[in-house]
Amino acid sequence: MKTVKQEVWFITGSQHLYGEATLKRVAEDSKRIAHTLSRAKSLPVKVVFKPTLTTPDAVTDLCIKANSSADCIGLICWMHTFSPAKMWITGLKVLQKPFMHLHTQFNRDIPWDSIDMDFMNLNQSAHGGREFGFICSRLRKNRKVVVGHWQEPAVQHKVGVWMRAAMAHHDSQGARIARFGDNMREVAVTEGDKVEAQKCFGYAVNGYGVGDLVAAISQISEAQVDRLVKDYDAQYEVVKAGRDGGKKRESVREAARIELGMRAFLEAGDFVGFTTTFEDLYGLKQLPGLAVQRLMAEGYGFGAEGDWKTAALVRAMKVMSQGLTGGTSFMEDYTYHLEPGNQKVLGAHMLEICDSIANGKPTLEVHPLGIGGKADPVRLVFNVDQGPGLNASIIDMGNRFRMVVNTVDVVNPDADLPKLPVARVVWVPKPNLEVGAGAWIHAGAAHHSGFSMALTAEHMEDFADMFNLEYVEINEATTITDIKNQLRWNEMYYMLAKGL
Ligand code: MN
Repeated sequence: MKTVKQEVWFITGSQHLYGEATLKRVAEDSKRIAHTLSRAKSLPVKVVFKPTLTTPDAVTDLCIKANSSADCIGLICWMHTFSPAKMWITGLKVLQKPFMHLHTQFNRDIPWDSIDMDFMNLNQSAHGGREFGFICSRLRKNRKVVVGHWQEPAVQHKVGVWMRAAMAHHDSQGARIARFGDNMREVAVTEGDKVEAQKCFGYAVNGYGVGDLVAAISQISEAQVDRLVKDYDAQYEVVKAGRDGGKKRESVREAARIELGMRAFLEAGDFVGFTTTFEDLYGLKQLPGLAVQRLMAEGYGFGAEGDWKTAALVRAMKVMSQGLTGGTSFMEDYTYHLEPGNQKVLGAHMLEICDSIANGKPTLEVHPLGIGGKADPVRLVFNVDQGPGLNASIIDMGNRFRMVVNTVDVVNPDADLPKLPVARVVWVPKPNLEVGAGAWIHAGAAHHSGFSMALTAEHMEDFADMFNLEYVEINEATTITDIKNQLRWNEMYYMLAKGL
């Protein structure tokens, strides 16, 4: 995955009233906080200190500079003292980058024995932050509010989570998603308004004929294929028939050819995600399985059957989870285990699950596919270790995009699955399958999702807020009655919110 030079600006609000000595101290303290945050391990992006803002023009000027900076992905705002918030109105109105409000105080503790009015005048975050909060709410600005001392790891972690969402927000601006072929015919949830999506998320989705991809594949040399299949042999447990001299070796070589052609196409067009569809494979010898798995593992977003919204979502989740443990993949709720007291979901797809979530060395297998009528596709097969995870879905509700997140517990399968020739994950949705699946269905969330064991619901909520998405979380506290009410109230809100 490409990494770009990114930074978050640390902004401190104040005013002239306090005099030079106090403002000098404010600047020193801000510098120290910015420096400490910049070095904190849980923060993936550099924090850059900016001079204290004390006038409306300075605020506006900084917001315009943030908008036009290619490196700035967001702002952390802090009020050391009181900063009269009318001076923030113009700036916040023009600001297009995400921002968060770090409601912290330089001193962790009240110095009970020595506290005097000088201390009180300098350490006014408690009410300075409230004035800033008012103007953000008055302007109906989405922002994250993190409360606590800046040296606390838990506080730094929350800032880091927001930064990861800001990285994905930044990545989405001007991003390109390629669709090979169109939608799977008659499927509803994978459709949507691409113009509205570009307006909301910043990414462009464009279709390409499968013939364009086939042309790229035809450019691949036998020497390139030779090299890549050797990589496969080294990285995976290749089944005997797929090894050199085996009767399925040519299928493996064809899969390598598809991967090389697909990668060349995606790199030439600077795409960050793509979709395929088994209904439109004209000229392709097999459904791309291995190629999709490996490209996803490198950071490409993917959606099957033309599902561009999920491709973009998986890409965003890949960006957010860079460097974290646990993987992220395209996913589909495939089949259920409905044994009373032991209900769970088996997630998989026809082929395309990313091996970033694999619990060991995947096996590389070649099997017929009972759908699509093409040659036997190559795929990586693996299981996934137990632990916490989540599924996320973005759907087009006609007047808005809705993100639904369901936290899950990944569990081990009850037994080996010797005849299942695809990668699979078994999970129990929170709070249980009955309520989790029921709430997901009431919310209209898709059969496709972005699955992650690296991200938490907090990442997803921060991301949703940056794009003003409707955010519906299904977790251990969810009841069907609450979800139905929330969805009804949201329906009303999103009708009225356009007038705010
Ligand atoms: Mn599917």
